[in-house]
Amino acid sequence: MYIDKANTIVIKIGSSNIVDGKGKLKEKWLNSLAKDLKKLVKKNKNIVIVSSGAIALGQSYLRIGKKKIKLEMSQAVASIGQIHLTNVYRKIFEKNKIKIGQILISLDDTEQRRRAINAKRTFENLFKLKAIPIVNENDTTATSEIKYGDNDRLAARVAQIISADVLINLSDVDGLYNPVERKKIIKEVNNIDEKIYSLVENKKNNYGSGGMMTKLQAAKICINSGCYMAIANGNILGPINELLKNNKCTWFIPKVSTLHAREKWIVSSIGNDGKIFIDDGAVKALKNGKSLLPAGITKIEGKFVKGDNVLIVDNNGKDCARGLTSFSSNEIEKIKGLKTDQIEKVLGYASKSEIIHRDDMVKL
Ligand code: GLU
Repeated sequence: MYIDKANTIVIKIGSSNIVDGKGKLKEKWLNSLAKDLKKLVKKNKNIVIVSSGAIALGQSYLRIGKKKIKLEMSQAVASIGQIHLTNVYRKIFEKNKIKIGQILISLDDTEQRRRAINAKRTFENLFKLKAIPIVNENDTTATSEIKYGDNDRLAARVAQIISADVLINLSDVDGLYNPVERKKIIKEVNNIDEKIYSLVENKKNNYGSGGMMTKLQAAKICINSGCYMAIANGNILGPINELLKNNKCTWFIPKVSTLHAREKWIVSSIGNDGKIFIDDGAVKALKNGKSLLPAGITKIEGKFVKGDNVLIVDNNGKDCARGLTSFSSNEIEKIKGLKTDQIEKVLGYASKSEIIHRDDMVKL
């Protein structure tokens, strides 16, 4: 079983696991989770919890109810609820002699390489201190453009940055359902393609902002990062123990990968939807390990700045590569299609000649 072999395990906990339909904290459940984790800690495993519930707990404390609240208001509600959330973990985990630390993450903390490495160090140091990091998105400052919005992808990105071996994604479903036998779940998924995406009905629960779609996107990040991911039902007492006993879940099996940590990080970017379209000649050049030059660029989509992670696609929109751009979208708009020696004249200043250097690029 993948959990037995893992050194580092990330456990994602959905709002519906922590808070019941009436907005009440599920204390008994959290106690049972702490007991499960104690066993894993005894086996010297590093554990990270990514927990939703700040908004749900804030709503129930403020008696706002389950109705949808606007983003600005949800930031304030999360600010109140996050204190309750951390406090609940502290109280229950302390009873079980487990230390915790809190990490609130903003999109830039994982999407800028330097900050991602910094975050990784903090996780590692918390492991040294034998404390479990309790992670959530920093909802209080996140705006809609710079926001994960769901903890599924956040948990996967954290798993990838800290090179976790397993991500257990607990929510209120047993796994990914089989389209033919509706009551059965698929046991293993090796590849996330259009067929798998088409299985999603996109039903959401009362509180969480994710759904099956964001879980599949999370699984894709894991698959590309060498991390196993399980989608399992958390709404049972002792959810991890139960999983270890019955293995009732959908497992996503990672690809064997030769990519280095930085390349894995580049491939799984979720920050920017900037796209660069290239012609057939450039497609061939990239395949041969060359850098991307302005001459091969036919069009761009989206706004991005120097250093952003962008997707490179061919003229039919098929993914070719991902990479860190050395030019902004405004600059590329001016120099696309041009020969390298014309760049300086058009831009009016000296710059690099590659739009994306091959060292900053990963082929897809
Ligand atoms: N960060 C949100 C919260 O703590 C939840 C996001 C999600 O549901 O995935 O309330």
